Amino acid sequence: MEFDGKHCIECNGTEFQMVNDSILKRKYPFVRGDNLKLCVECGAKYITCDNCGNLFTRVHLSNQVPGITDTCPNCKKKMDQVSQWIKHGIESFGNI
Ligand SMILES: [Zn+2]
Ligand SMILES: [Zn+2]
Repeated sequence: MEFDGKHCIECNGTEFQMVNDSILKRKYPFVRGDNLKLCVECGAKYITCDNCGNLFTRVHLSNQVPGITDTCPNCKKKMDQVSQWIKHGIESFGNI
């Protein structure tokens, strides 16, 4: 299943609610109080696109750099903060 920004990549669910997660906020600079959503079905968390409001990329405490994408699957807009984070992560982990 390809992530389209509207369905949960884990369970294909379409119901999401805003959440505030202080641990994810501390871990990821691009997670804010107003852009994190939780899949009601399975609990997967996603940040939302500032441009179109669809799901942008999944965030998880154990996410490694390749699991995070910096381009919205719906409107194709890039989020600079995410691109920066991926770049730094690749430099520090030395993988991919
Ligand atoms: Zn789900
Ligand atoms: Zn978008």
